Amino acid sequence: MFNYIIVGAGFVGSVLAERIATQLNKKVIIIEKRNHIGGNAYDYYNKEGILVHKYGPHIFHTRSKEVWDYLSQFTEWLIYQHHVLGLIDGKKVPIPFNLNTLYEVFPNSLAKKLEEKLIKHFGFNVKIPILKLREVNDDDLQFLANYIYEKIFLNYTIKQWGVKPEDLDPTVTGRVPVYISRDNRYFQDQFQGMPKYGYTKMFENMLDHSYIKILLNTDYKEVIDMNLETGEIKLFDQKFEGKLIYTGPIDYFFNYKHGNLPYRSLNFKFETIDMEQFQEVGTVNYPNNYSFTRITEFKHLTGQKTNKTTIVKEFSQEYDPNKNEPYYPIKNEENLILFKLYKKEADKLDNVIFAGRLAEYQYYDMDAVVAKALKIFKEKIYKEKL
Ligand code: FAD
Ligand code: UDP
Repeated sequence: MFNYIIVGAGFVGSVLAERIATQLNKKVIIIEKRNHIGGNAYDYYNKEGILVHKYGPHIFHTRSKEVWDYLSQFTEWLIYQHHVLGLIDGKKVPIPFNLNTLYEVFPNSLAKKLEEKLIKHFGFNVKIPILKLREVNDDDLQFLANYIYEKIFLNYTIKQWGVKPEDLDPTVTGRVPVYISRDNRYFQDQFQGMPKYGYTKMFENMLDHSYIKILLNTDYKEVIDMNLETGEIKLFDQKFEGKLIYTGPIDYFFNYKHGNLPYRSLNFKFETIDMEQFQEVGTVNYPNNYSFTRITEFKHLTGQKTNKTTIVKEFSQEYDPNKNEPYYPIKNEENLILFKLYKKEADKLDNVIFAGRLAEYQYYDMDAVVAKALKIFKEKIYKEKL
């Protein structure tokens, strides 16, 4: 019946299903445990008719023309450039910290001196991760680095991750580097936008093919029996000879035999307010105040015009497989060692492809997983006729 089984209807699962059905003319079944497609990018209209993102705000941005062109087959785009402000000492200032922020938080003369030093040391239009800036051997720049570290990164990171910035892989805080520039945008990628009719609509278009069947509300273990020793797969109790593409958590696949891979989870608190606009920009970060990390107002992202507005507050939580969702892999050396034990097992199963944020235990943005899925299709599935 089916040539491929795909577990998970997120970006990776959906891109691969689309490629396999349209380019190989092969039949695919997608098994998804949630009651909807789209993975964490799923959006829907709430009861007030406002388009919201169920699993937290998702803003699309990429440098890859290939990824942009690929997704553009399934959606038109709304031009959107994300702006973030951070509440620092009672004032909302541009994040990532840039030269405009510098002049907002310091008196002019001090800001000018620091600006000159930054440009002399690093150049203009350069991004410096905060942990790198802290290593600079100059008293004034040390002062600046400590200020940014303490006011923007330290408490936010403790709230979000439960540890200090230096106890995480440097790429985590490196996602929001100090930017020696006057550009207030959160991302500088060439292609940025929001799917004009929402992410879910884009996924529906991608999966609209007679060779793609979708089974929702089903954990794959309910319908697939996988022998982890021999690699033998049974689907609905019938021997399955095709390939399995797995985009769920890798530790769950191997029944947590080496232990649980740690994640951070989030609790999203949505509020609809009887006013047209709640805040100045899409997202406001609260590094030092309140127990949530940030507030996003969806109408900024989606361009919707309504009398009311919906916001979401993000509260970070410990992850528990029985209680909440695994959102962020916690990148550090210890967890990488644990992941590699699972990866070693995964590499032995040549009829299973492990891909995506949960199966690869990676802090991937959407464009990165689309790029990965396209690469897997080209280099593994299509070329090797897997
Ligand atoms: P997922 O979207 O997680 O899809 C995996 C699917 O597998 C899920 O639908 C899941 O239900 C299903 N599944 C899992 N286990 C099973 C099982 N046992 N049986 C059946 N199905 C199963 N990226 C950006 O580029 N921009 C952003 O602004 C952005 N914001 C984000 C905000 C938050 C709060 C978070 C957590 C992530 C954000 N991301 C953002 C990242 C983005 O969500 C991911 O890159 C993307 O969703 C990864 O796609 P995926 O297919 O790998 O995984
Ligand atoms: N970060 C911070 N303060 C901020 C913004 C980001 O400390 O105002 C740190 C924090 O550790 C966060 C990481 O930088 O987890 C990455 O931020 P990003 O906005 O990329 O997080 P995401 O959107 O992926 O949740």
